[in-house]
Amino acid sequence: VPKKTSSFFTDYSQLSNFVEEIFFPHFCVVCNKKIEEDYLCSRCKQEIKYLDYPLIERVGNTLFFAITAYEGVMEDAIKKYKFKSYKILSNEFAEIIVKFVVSNKINVDYVGFVPMTRNELLRRGFNQTELLARKIAKKMNAKTLPGLHKVRNTKKQIELRKSERLSNLRNSFEVSNFIKGDILIVDDVYTTGATASELTKALRKKTDGKIIFVALARAIN
Ligand SMILES: [Zn+2]
Repeated sequence: VPKKTSSFFTDYSQLSNFVEEIFFPHFCVVCNKKIEEDYLCSRCKQEIKYLDYPLIERVGNTLFFAITAYEGVMEDAIKKYKFKSYKILSNEFAEIIVKFVVSNKINVDYVGFVPMTRNELLRRGFNQTELLARKIAKKMNAKTLPGLHKVRNTKKQIELRKSERLSNLRNSFEVSNFIKGDILIVDDVYTTGATASELTKALRKKTDGKIIFVALARAIN
């Protein structure tokens, strides 16, 4: 029963955040400096490189953005978030995305994420983009996008050459119901754009609304 499972995880993560804040002092996840609040110190935050041209591409009513450069503080923080389960960083990341969306006057009805298959979820332990999407939806008073699924396991994009990345993901996403309204999809790192392209292609079959794909960081190779 998916609904029950997701509310259990939501409650649990809120509880664990609460417990961490009471019993553990805060340290900057990137430089280890002791800080009063949050998990990125102000100095590290200042070092985040915001992109001068966040718009990557526009295809009709579908827009692709990336907010920061995937390097330095951001690269370090995102790697710790994804691979070392520093879930506490989801607050900082969600805030960066919400600020971007609000300052660009982007209004959406739904906030979605890059889905994983059950196997992929078990391997990673959590879906890092789902956690972001849930926080962002809450902050923006939007709904979490229902019905977007990953229907087959794929190789990790990071292990593949650029040319293989698109075919690896081809037809791996499906949307089960028609969606009325505008949609924000959040992702952590935009690299070749294969995920963004495949996912929005699946979504476009089931909506006439705007699709705004926003990645926290962009890797420029
Ligand atoms: Zn720091």
